[in-house]
Amino acid sequence: MSERKNLQVTLLSRPGVNGEPQESNFGIQECPIPTSESLAAGDVLMKNLFLSVDPALRCRMNEDSGVHYMSAWQLGQGIDGLGGVGKVMSSNDPVFQEGDLVTGTFLWPWTAEFTIVGSNLRKLPKEIYGNHPSLALSLLGGTGLTAYLGIAERAHLRQGGNQTVVVSAAGGATGSLAGQIARLLGAAKVVGICGNEEKCRVVREEFGFDSAINYKTTDVAAELMKICPEGVHVYFDNVGGDLSTSVIKQMVSNSHIILCGQIAMYSQDVPYPPPISAELQEILQQRNITRERFLVLDFPDKFEAALQVLAQWYGEGKIKVRETTVEGLENAGAAFVSMMKGGNIGKQIVKVAM
Ligand code: NDP
Repeated sequence: MSERKNLQVTLLSRPGVNGEPQESNFGIQECPIPTSESLAAGDVLMKNLFLSVDPALRCRMNEDSGVHYMSAWQLGQGIDGLGGVGKVMSSNDPVFQEGDLVTGTFLWPWTAEFTIVGSNLRKLPKEIYGNHPSLALSLLGGTGLTAYLGIAERAHLRQGGNQTVVVSAAGGATGSLAGQIARLLGAAKVVGICGNEEKCRVVREEFGFDSAINYKTTDVAAELMKICPEGVHVYFDNVGGDLSTSVIKQMVSNSHIILCGQIAMYSQDVPYPPPISAELQEILQQRNITRERFLVLDFPDKFEAALQVLAQWYGEGKIKVRETTVEGLENAGAAFVSMMKGGNIGKQIVKVAM
């Protein structure tokens, strides 16, 4: 019989503020096995099933994360991510029982077995999640909330409003949902921008966008002019940099940018959000384009209602979800690096156990 052991992902080295993350930055090591006897009141002993892999973790690889809501990872220490799904092995919190499927958002250890405070957890009803627990990390979790609340709160879409929406990183977790949600909330035309032909195909054929542009092989500005001669009314920006400059230049007066993320700049030594050029600032001002920073965590009161809408749409087949799953805790670092380079379609997930 093999001896039971516990494993955790660690940060071995930092890529440097201007360095691309590498698999070699991550390690895996044995760590103590938590036991039910060591649980404090309110604690829950968890078996990790799925990890959420998120671009925002890039800033935690630096010595200073640069943001107030996340701390930097420490070298040689076990690391944690922005969410996961687990199974309760033992519980000292009356809300949770052995065998419950649960999810948590912040400070989810990249460790096979761990203890966590029960108040940080949400129970996942088996009738919704039993066959698909990772849905709590894609559509019915932080990713779906970001896409839904970004569009619902900031896009100013109207049914029959004849508005054109452009989404960057459209083949990814948030972008793929944002485009579909924009359509459901009234967008007349939805255009996605992404980094390879397969993603462009999926964005059009599975997610139902009207068009998709491969930014690696196409002149985005010229293509947008062809596809959207009416101009762009809403831009869901996951990327920033030159790509976003090309989109913003095609935006009409009184239009809206949802400043969701700026992944093109995450491995550069710039503050968040990165400063924009004087030319772009002038365009925003002259055309009265809104570009307020969007952070899903600013809308906790709206989470429950948003999840209900998303679950209903999903049940009715109105929204499609894709996940790219890598197996094994030891491959979590590689999954993160791959996602940062565009290796995922839909939500990047690590399956730890089942
Ligand atoms: P994705 O699933 O979209 O994965 C990231 C994608 O970004 C990659 O697949 C890649 O796709 C694309 N990408 C990477 N580098 C570049 C680049 N230089 N230029 C253009 N595209 C690039 O991740 P998420 O859906 O989890 O996150 C998307 C964005 O949303 C991120 O910016 C993230 O920080 C942000 N976010 C913001 C939140 C908020 O509250 N504001 C909450 C959650 C996420 P491709 O093949 O197309 O290049």
